[in-house]
Amino acid sequence: MRRLFTIVLGYWLCCSSPAYSWWETGHQTIARLAAAHLTPAARTRLARILDVPDTPEAIANALARASTWADEIRNQSGTGAWHYIDLALQDSKSDIPARCPHDNCAPARIHLFAAQLASHSADPRWSDLDALRFLVHFIGDIHQPLHAVSDADLGGNCERLDPQVGKAKNLHALWDGEIVNAISSSGQALTGELEREIETFSPQQQRDIAAGGQDDWAWESHGLAQKNIYWKLHVPLEAPVFPANCGEAPGEITDFHPQIDGLYIDSMKPIVRLQLERAGLRLAKVLDESL
Ligand SMILES: [Zn+2]
Repeated sequence: MRRLFTIVLGYWLCCSSPAYSWWETGHQTIARLAAAHLTPAARTRLARILDVPDTPEAIANALARASTWADEIRNQSGTGAWHYIDLALQDSKSDIPARCPHDNCAPARIHLFAAQLASHSADPRWSDLDALRFLVHFIGDIHQPLHAVSDADLGGNCERLDPQVGKAKNLHALWDGEIVNAISSSGQALTGELEREIETFSPQQQRDIAAGGQDDWAWESHGLAQKNIYWKLHVPLEAPVFPANCGEAPGEITDFHPQIDGLYIDSMKPIVRLQLERAGLRLAKVLDESL
């Protein structure tokens, strides 16, 4: 979940869900997929930053552990806005810079932390280890479609599910974790499954998937959210405003309870799988280029 702080201010504190975007399984899966696709040179540098032996297994485990740190420190560090970008449903791709004031959004932070790792420039606030941990996490986050969109609803946080679906009490949580859990409850098993799927892609197909940059990936997520979440579930279209919390969201949104059934979850599984695979291959590419 992307905005714990604002949710806490909102009026259903009682109903908030675990404070992880893509929850742990999604982030750790992305990190493990990326680790399997690094060049040996990037792996060696990664081992040094993570302070672990230079073996594929040690690096995969350490990168998986590092992948959820950004969620753990988000509240005390005031970095919550770095986990997403609020693009209205009416926006076009060229609106991305305007929706990212003072670089306080995921695509800008991906760019900045990748640059920090590439230049070895010491940011006074963040170490190379921190930069790496942010990068791993934010590349994961922008592949969760609801981290790149807002319909005056904090990226789906304000549409309550009634009844709740598993642990998910709102639309955002459904996409953060519950669909991933419906695919597989074990992160290791999920990683193996997705890795075998990736191996069926040709090297050229893998390069095509990894192509582009953070703005392209955020825009791709925005399109996926529009089509498969907002339109498919008939969520009312709101004016492009960005409330600070769900208490300030339009009544049309807070009164709207999307009807989620097994059919919807099953039909979204391939999208979630592809997003996890894309994020893994793209993270590997960014790390190869920066390290
Ligand atoms: Zn996050």
